Amino acid sequence: MARLLIGSVYYLRLDPKRFEELQPFPPLATLYAAAYMRARGHEVRFFDAMLAGSHGEWASLVEHVRPEIAVLYDDNFNYLSKMCLTNMRDAAVAMIAAAKKVQAKVVVCCSDAVDHPELYLDAGADAVILGEGEAALAEIVDGIHDGELETIQGVAVRGRDGSITRTDRRPPLRDLDTLPFPAWDLVDFDRYRRIWRERHGIFALNMATTRGCPYSCNWCAKPIWGQSYAVRSPANVVAELETLIDAAAPDYVWFMDDIMGLKPKWWGTFADELERRAINIRFKCLSRADLVLREGAVADLARAGCDIVWLGAESGSQKILDAMDKGLTVGQIEEATRRLKSAGIRVGHFIQFGYSGEGVADIARTIAMIRKTQPDEIGISVSYPLPGTAFYDRVKAELQEKRNWSDSSDLAMLYRGPFSTGFYRRLHTYVHRDFRMRRGLRAFARVLKGRETLRFRHVRSLVYAMLCLGIAPFSLLSLRLLRS
Ligand code: SF4
Repeated sequence: MARLLIGSVYYLRLDPKRFEELQPFPPLATLYAAAYMRARGHEVRFFDAMLAGSHGEWASLVEHVRPEIAVLYDDNFNYLSKMCLTNMRDAAVAMIAAAKKVQAKVVVCCSDAVDHPELYLDAGADAVILGEGEAALAEIVDGIHDGELETIQGVAVRGRDGSITRTDRRPPLRDLDTLPFPAWDLVDFDRYRRIWRERHGIFALNMATTRGCPYSCNWCAKPIWGQSYAVRSPANVVAELETLIDAAAPDYVWFMDDIMGLKPKWWGTFADELERRAINIRFKCLSRADLVLREGAVADLARAGCDIVWLGAESGSQKILDAMDKGLTVGQIEEATRRLKSAGIRVGHFIQFGYSGEGVADIARTIAMIRKTQPDEIGISVSYPLPGTAFYDRVKAELQEKRNWSDSSDLAMLYRGPFSTGFYRRLHTYVHRDFRMRRGLRAFARVLKGRETLRFRHVRSLVYAMLCLGIAPFSLLSLRLLRS
């Protein structure tokens, strides 16, 4: 039995935009790894970077626990971890140094380390896991003191001659129902609850019903699960949900899957299972327009208690969707949005600007799609070439010196894209402002028509809309103005 300290790597404090939003979620993948290692008889302590002020807290805990093995294990379900932000990389390097100070062996499992194992091995890590972590971690812990890591599947280690050995990736776990539930007992629920309730009036927690995604959007990095896709049974998910409700009483759940509901009829069986156990809880999830359009999907989602579906809409230009290998049409995105809204389910659109070949006309089509479909929320990003993607290979020759964002609000163009970073930052502000102005005006119109009761948020929206009205029409004259 080994004494392990397992810590996540994403520090909300180091991501100013997300810290301002203040929607912390416990690091789910880290908790899965903790449960997996405990089930193998190891002693496990847990460090939650999401709530930590800095990596100094990790250093203090390392001093206190003096683990034999320190494991830096990111929440690979959280899409923020895929951004490979340099603020988090720097923190991880400092965490490795702190662990080495007490002579701990160090294992790293995170997206950035899959792309750049040398950075983490040079910082002192003994092994980097290349892909899904649990099974590899168990073997590493068994073999680390004998130094026999080079035969373990799915790792990168530095040999005695200084060269890096990467072993073949191991196939991800298929039967997710056999995994122990995440080690929820290690989470400081009181602290999460207090933060959520004070800022948002509800308490949200996170779960995952699947791992991976089999689609092939060519900019989407999949360092952990590759093209694989595995799904839990609805009964297994609802059983975990029930234990989570008993332990922490959340009001809301974020299902962090890349793609929820891919398996036909999954949402229907999930809704049945929730009804059978009399569980009512609102949730948000990410999915695709084509899955939402399958027969009965929207009704099943509504029956299960879905609050909002975030769709990877990306662009209102079919040319750009096709270039991304998105496998969707603009019409499908519009129709899925319409159907969800008609069923009382809110819709979020992830929008991406700056894909290669995108011109002003394509941007205008995206803005038109947002105005036409009127999603309830939007999230805007710019194309981000990440190693291992076809998009990265396509724009490799145009990469700038800077290869990663420092934090999630960075929005720097990392390749010589259609327009400058300044243009996309202004566009980001403009589209958000236009969206919020229109959403505010629509909300106020509903009040005037007697469909909603006047609340403070309506007045706030109206004031915001009036402030924006002075700016937006000017910008509407031409997107080209944003280029200056
Ligand atoms: S559907 Fe989503 S998760 Fe899957 S490849 Fe496309 S962008 Fe990535």
